Amino acid sequence: MPTSSARLSTTLLAAALLVPMVSGAQSAPLPPIIEDPRIQDVVASSSAERIRTDITALVNFGTRHTMSDTLSNTRGIGAARRWIFAEFEKISKACGGCLEVRYISDIVKGDPNGRIKQDINVVNVVAILRGTTEPNRFMVHTGDIDSRVTDVLNATSDSPGANDNASGIAALLEAARLMSKHKFAASVAWVALSSEEQGLQGGDIVAKAAQREGWRIDAVINNDMVGNSRGIDGVFENTKARVFAPGLPATTPAAEMRRILTNGGELDTPSRQLARYIDVIADRYHPNMDVEIIYRLDRYGRGGHHTPFFNLGAAAVRLMEAHEDYTKQHQDLRTENGIKYGDVLEGVDFDYAAKMTALDASVLMSLAAAPAAPVDARITGAVQPSPTLRWTASPSPDVAGYRIYWRKHSDVNWTRSRYVGNVTDYTLKNVIIDNYFFGIAAVGKNGQESLVAFPR
Ligand SMILES: [Zn+2]
Repeated sequence: MPTSSARLSTTLLAAALLVPMVSGAQSAPLPPIIEDPRIQDVVASSSAERIRTDITALVNFGTRHTMSDTLSNTRGIGAARRWIFAEFEKISKACGGCLEVRYISDIVKGDPNGRIKQDINVVNVVAILRGTTEPNRFMVHTGDIDSRVTDVLNATSDSPGANDNASGIAALLEAARLMSKHKFAASVAWVALSSEEQGLQGGDIVAKAAQREGWRIDAVINNDMVGNSRGIDGVFENTKARVFAPGLPATTPAAEMRRILTNGGELDTPSRQLARYIDVIADRYHPNMDVEIIYRLDRYGRGGHHTPFFNLGAAAVRLMEAHEDYTKQHQDLRTENGIKYGDVLEGVDFDYAAKMTALDASVLMSLAAAPAAPVDARITGAVQPSPTLRWTASPSPDVAGYRIYWRKHSDVNWTRSRYVGNVTDYTLKNVIIDNYFFGIAAVGKNGQESLVAFPR
């Protein structure tokens, strides 16, 4: 029936033409292209060999326990942090002094019942690649300098900490090397932290210093153990990263909790948007890397240095290997019943660590090149056929427009999106508000997208 099918397609065409008019946009806007060749290049350049060299150098300091020797130039945490500082300086020299390298330290009071018995100076190393247009907006990449063996107070025995967490520091150095060849709108800070094992004091010191200095932190990606590919469960896995993403902070006000109970939002905290972003970037730039998002602050009974930043309100996640081997963590070096215990160099898969580093770098580059997320996003549309999203424009320059996302409640990541151009409100026709979660991201003129803002 040619006549009726011709009539049908005319009707469809008319409907398609009508969509932009009823939605409020002038014409169907075209989003900018998203793939960034700089990121493709960095991903391809992440070097397992340089990561091996750096982890080896850190292991060779014998122990990096937080209370170990600080005066020797060959053994202890003092030598290790000075070496990290010098490495960042070297990277900076190669890019014409592009990094601001400094120590951020503070005295932590001793406590006879705690993990730090006497007052110590906890010293962290920070390297900043300053943003060109938004120097005070930060993406933060963290790892830990310190190591430990079975007794958390043992500051003298050999404690190589090859995977926990020299692998994290090596990832920072390699990411800094590769990314410092480029400029970004926002700043990137590589932060090597001390006293993770004694109770996250280094992260606490830097998070508070950043707050005092007024850093606007968009994202914290903590690397803590990124080089173990053979798990204690026997599984070999070198194509997956776990991203631990916390929900609501313990300080969430009761009124906010009640609103979230009704409307949702516990799955859509800033940290969980960051985890989704990492997942998207992994799919875009890493054919051999998948992200497993885990809705948890950390593993059972364990902690990490993203937590002090999360506690101060930042979007903060822990990125780590998919399968751990507990015989290689926090262990005295020994052989028992034929099992070799200890966090030694041989336990690190440098190729896997290089892939994890490439993932870090691609996410940091995307975020630092993208505008900040829109602020104060809101949604209305209860008992109506179509919800309306409203937001305040991203504070960043060079915004091309906005993209609305939605997904079903059982989906982990966004499944649908629409680029809506440079507007600050949009009505999504015939999508029932109760059946989906929604989000809104800013898109830069360079095609890079911000984190997704969850509308209240
Ligand atoms: Zn540890």
